[in-house]
Amino acid sequence: MAYLPVFLNLDNRACLVIGGSDTAASAIERLLQAGAQITVVAAELDDSLRQHVEQGRLRHRSGRFEPELLSEQTLVIAATTDPAHNRWVAEHAMRRNILVSVLDNPELGNVILRDEGGNYQPNSSRARPRRQAPGEVYLVGAGPGDVDLLTLRALRLLQQADTVLYDRLISPAVLELINPAAERIYVGKVRGYHSLPQPEINALLIRLAREGRRVCRLKGGDPFIFGRGGEELEALAEQGITFEVVPGVTAASGCAAYGGIPLTHRDYAQSCTFVTGHPKSGDIELDWERFARPDQTVVFYMGLHTLPVLTRKLCEHGAPEDLPAALVEKGTTKEQRVLTGTLANLAQLAEHHQVKAPALIIVGKVVTLRQRLAWFEARAAAGTPASLLRQAG
Ligand code: SAH
Repeated sequence: MAYLPVFLNLDNRACLVIGGSDTAASAIERLLQAGAQITVVAAELDDSLRQHVEQGRLRHRSGRFEPELLSEQTLVIAATTDPAHNRWVAEHAMRRNILVSVLDNPELGNVILRDEGGNYQPNSSRARPRRQAPGEVYLVGAGPGDVDLLTLRALRLLQQADTVLYDRLISPAVLELINPAAERIYVGKVRGYHSLPQPEINALLIRLAREGRRVCRLKGGDPFIFGRGGEELEALAEQGITFEVVPGVTAASGCAAYGGIPLTHRDYAQSCTFVTGHPKSGDIELDWERFARPDQTVVFYMGLHTLPVLTRKLCEHGAPEDLPAALVEKGTTKEQRVLTGTLANLAQLAEHHQVKAPALIIVGKVVTLRQRLAWFEARAAAGTPASLLRQAG
């Protein structure tokens, strides 16, 4: 079944909820927040619902559902514990072209509701039949933030997937595009703490694929650039699981473009290197002499917390203290901030402006071009183009 993601304006609209259990109650909370005029049809109400009725926030009909109750309704929620009754309600509603959501079995209705966490209805994954065909895994790059930087291939796969595993850096606007019937699993990492250790992520991917699922493994930026994508695929390859890789706009490309800093330029940089600033253990052991040489651009990922060390090491190995350097915070999103300075003062600037992750460091003379080529902030301030502002993650 194909779905269109929409937002409903239910302000003062009549909505009918059949059932008074806690599942119904959580849907009702969300309808109340949306300003709906709700009638609950149920023999009994749970405590929170009874309170709402007493305080006049919703109406209660204690009888059973009758098709006549459907007139003038915008949305119907079937949430009884009796699957046959829910089906019957959904059929009547759809016959009258009224939107209806069956909480326990979304495919019986024509609307899928999300819970507060952005997940879809309870049981929706259980209700979905498993496919007989062997499963597969799509390792997909989600880009650096602005949803418009997603590739068409990524969009198609997000809409076809049964299950989506995603990381912390994925912007909410990208998550909006996931197939509404798909199960979403957050496996994100917080610095220094893996909410799900890498071997467990690998094992989960293998298990889901073996169950016959089409699994989309969504990663920030490009999955093959500091994304551990390679490690996950090695595990899948070992088990003979079919996979596909979709490249994404990596943070360096995204931040450089939206920061007005070309990564190469015939006058300033003949090469560009992407380096991790995150020490594997204790000290950062890098080929500092190589990165300190002139006429190149060096981009540090994951370097915000080691910025004072990075800039000092470069200077100690021969880079001039006045070499231009930039820090791009939350690049390509509407919260993007770009700080420019030199190797001597960038760390201080970062501290002064309290820069937060994710942030990218760009070192090299190309940074001076930003003075003339910055464009994103001006457009954002002018409020144009609308799509850029509305959609930037
Ligand atoms: N695979 C990702 C990188 C993952 S490592 C990619 O290709 O972009 C995470 C690091 O990427 C962060 O520490 C930060 O340095 C950088 N990063 C990711 N998104 C960013 C953004 N929107 N703005 C600035 N830096 C970003």
